[in-house]
Amino acid sequence: MLNPVRNSKKTLEPGLDKIESFSNGIKALQFHRITPKFQFCGTWNKPGQFEGFLEYLCKNGIETIVPGQKESGIVITFDDGEKSIYDYAFPILKNFGVKAVVFLIVDYIGRKNLWDITLTGRRVQHLSWDEIIEMKKWGIEFGSHTMTHRNLTKLNKKEIEHELFESKRILEQKIGECSTISYPFNRVNSTVIKVTVNAGYKFGFGGDGSSNLLLKKEAIYITDNTKSFDVKISEEPGLFYRYERIKQKVINYFTIATMVAKR
Ligand SMILES: [Zn+2]
Repeated sequence: MLNPVRNSKKTLEPGLDKIESFSNGIKALQFHRITPKFQFCGTWNKPGQFEGFLEYLCKNGIETIVPGQKESGIVITFDDGEKSIYDYAFPILKNFGVKAVVFLIVDYIGRKNLWDITLTGRRVQHLSWDEIIEMKKWGIEFGSHTMTHRNLTKLNKKEIEHELFESKRILEQKIGECSTISYPFNRVNSTVIKVTVNAGYKFGFGGDGSSNLLLKKEAIYITDNTKSFDVKISEEPGLFYRYERIKQKVINYFTIATMVAKR
């Protein structure tokens, strides 16, 4: 039985308790790279697989939303803003008439992903401004994934402010309002949240779902199929969900390698 998106009532970590908690039911399905070519990482999906997930949502009447549209619902998101989103995901989204949010690493727009540590050393291209503007015209939303994709919890306040304020400023100058942010590596603390509020973001992705600034991201990997996808949407507590969590941790190991190397 599908039961998309439960409200989370977890308490906020000390220092965050002054931030208004909306206890809402917004949850992000987090994609990264959509490509037919095999990748030496877990954070990619084949175009046909991505299409299958959208088909599954449509067939089961599970509505997707963009932040601000409704109080609860599933948001399709892409972290990092790679060019493969334009090449492979965008045509599929258009076919299904499904909107999504793409989180951009603003310093790397139109450039290769030199911020990332890859197993193969191969570099992929990020979206260009022209591609971003075309997608925006169709209805794709764009948010900040900071300037340089660093672990915000390891930066001082000035550096965090630069990452958050500057990325928002540039995005708004080019394509209009930017009210969403996705925290790199899902790393966030009370200082980061305070800066997020001061910068004027309304939605922050990467947290326990306890407020609009700590919304849940559920990563979808190449290893996912319809069954595990269903588990991730419905979030029924159970053995299979815990198994998916363990799998996610193993895949995230490679993401953490990037983070450690960049300290
Ligand atoms: Zn990222």
